[in-house]
Amino acid sequence: MSSEALDSVLARTSNVLLDFDGPICSVFSHFTPMAVAKELRTRLDGIDAPETNEPFELLNYVAQEGLSAASAVEAELAQLEIEAVSTATPTSGATEVLRYFADAGRRVVVVSNNSASAIDVYLRKHALGSYVAGVSARTKPDPGLLKPNPHLLHDAVALLRAEPSTCVMVGDSLTDIDAARAAGCPAIGYANKPGKRERFAVVEPTAIIDHMTDLLRQERTRQ
Ligand SMILES: [Mg+2]
Repeated sequence: MSSEALDSVLARTSNVLLDFDGPICSVFSHFTPMAVAKELRTRLDGIDAPETNEPFELLNYVAQEGLSAASAVEAELAQLEIEAVSTATPTSGATEVLRYFADAGRRVVVVSNNSASAIDVYLRKHALGSYVAGVSARTKPDPGLLKPNPHLLHDAVALLRAEPSTCVMVGDSLTDIDAARAAGCPAIGYANKPGKRERFAVVEPTAIIDHMTDLLRQERTRQ
């Protein structure tokens, strides 16, 4: 994909909807998804949960039992995510990009399936709060409201009082791109692992980057 696609999408947008896990930090870098899922399973008293290393799969599964069961699991998952972000590895270049967006007048809303409480904890810990206009993340037990559903993006766009076409979603998952499309927002795929560039090509994001600092370089050329 050409860098013109990246130039072009940044030139016609003024707001950024930024995914958390991937673009800002690696949430489960030390407290691994496997360990989180294992701990979560031990807290699912009386629920016959499937064997999985994915905490969100457990939430999805329990949500099928009803929202009151999901509510308890969501609360436990949020606590585990708060624990996880205390040791999460920051993404290389993320702070620099957030600072530069703020200086350039680009407003950023963090849009994430992770718990809003955990994101607040991380932003405070790393003194990043002043660089973001808001957080639109998981506050409810219903996993159906999470990406790829556009719900969190709709809330972020409303918070910015902006048009969706002026808000570019930056995320490292196919669900980020799908949610952006459903919300009417352009999307930049962050290919942070081998093979992701190829996987992104299937969902056709507006542009693809390999490093967060690719955004910074484009931002500089915009000046
Ligand atoms: Mg992500």
